[in-house]
Amino acid sequence: MSRQRAFPDTGSAGILQRLARPSPKARHVTQRSPDRWSCDGSGAAGNFLLPLKMPSNKSVSDAPITQFLNCHILKDHTLQREDLWVREGKILNPEKLFFDEKGYADVQIDCKGSIIAPGFIDAQINGGYGIDFSSATDDMKCGVSMVARRLLSTGVTSFCPTLVTSPVSVYHQVIPQIEVQDGGPKGAGILGLHLEGPFISKEKKGAHPEQYLQTFEKHGFQDLLDTYGSLDNVRIVTLAPELNRSEEVIRELVRRGICVSLGHSVSNLAQAEAAVKQGATFITHLFNAMLPFHHRDPGIVGLLTSNEIPAGQSIFYGMIADGIHTNPAALRIAYRAHPTGLVLVTDAIMAMGLPAGRHTLGQQVIEIDGLHAYVAGTKTLSGSIATMDMCVRHLWQVAGCSMEHALEAASLHPAELLGISQTKGTLEYGTDADLVLMDKELNVKATYIAGEWVWKHCKVANELEMGSE
Ligand SMILES: [Zn+2]
Repeated sequence: MSRQRAFPDTGSAGILQRLARPSPKARHVTQRSPDRWSCDGSGAAGNFLLPLKMPSNKSVSDAPITQFLNCHILKDHTLQREDLWVREGKILNPEKLFFDEKGYADVQIDCKGSIIAPGFIDAQINGGYGIDFSSATDDMKCGVSMVARRLLSTGVTSFCPTLVTSPVSVYHQVIPQIEVQDGGPKGAGILGLHLEGPFISKEKKGAHPEQYLQTFEKHGFQDLLDTYGSLDNVRIVTLAPELNRSEEVIRELVRRGICVSLGHSVSNLAQAEAAVKQGATFITHLFNAMLPFHHRDPGIVGLLTSNEIPAGQSIFYGMIADGIHTNPAALRIAYRAHPTGLVLVTDAIMAMGLPAGRHTLGQQVIEIDGLHAYVAGTKTLSGSIATMDMCVRHLWQVAGCSMEHALEAASLHPAELLGISQTKGTLEYGTDADLVLMDKELNVKATYIAGEWVWKHCKVANELEMGSE
């Protein structure tokens, strides 16, 4: 299919844009030049909004209003030629602003035809930039902060740091250090941990160390609590549903508001459906580390078209769309079977973001060649090193899906999975102004969190102009 698409002008947008002419009071705003760190995403960009010299004429709030002009925004599943308005970190309804408040923009940003999508959400990332979230250290807070800062350059505005199967001592040491927190100039927000294992199948353990695998045999949910120590900062748990007593564990996790994902498993379809009836809603990296599709028993993959999903419940599935871990044909099968459940994940390892060549990471020496990360001297893949923006582009290019669907797989769908679509993953009025500005090839030009500029590409540092008149 053609990758070009028309960006329709919406009727109301035209009216709103005429109404949105710069107020005589709108001023030139000199943009603070991005500091040295911000260009490579390794540092905080700071707040570009200059303090107002006088209060604005607004009845509801005196907080400055930013208008993004000349852009195509992803709204109602469509890219629309419409301006985007932001105040106090939230997306504003311009009709209310004009007609009820008689308000106007304090700051205007000419987006020069950019696409604006909701900030990307990565529900499975093991590390990056040399940091492994599963390593035993008392300094993980610092490591996670560094990764959070660097992720801004990939359009990710919030994420779930992921721990693979580890010794109990590592869970007790690391889990309390990674707290849920809002994003901002210092980095992408942390939505909570994704604990992948250790309650998984030996047969489908993948790269997880077998000696640390566990079961719920003895005490059911208490076994899980004893292993993790605390569930305070936990958002997702990946487990194998065929393990004994998994149903009671799933029920209790869901009751506590934790998302249960099925993966690293030899589950058949009936076992997977039973887990879904207990509240499981996610499939961890579909196709990888599970039984292959078989027509008489399609296993976990069969959930995509199962008619046993309880009414009102949705099934989502993670996919590593890096062009290496999933064949494009498999990506298309999943997408066509269940397009609204596709959640892009990077599943990135600590080698993500490092330059080509050899790196010593923990006990391993890894060689990076393009998008491949090999165990040095071999052709054994050691994990994904794709970034979320790369995965979005790859999905769009190979899955035969629209640009809108590719963008929603990294924003709306993970937000729905995590139950946060009232605040994130959309550009609806009243939601958080976490934004990714991209060119028409979906390369990230700038990232905003709560309406605040947090990263901008060096090459476009001067392109996005602010000010008016
Ligand atoms: Zn895995």
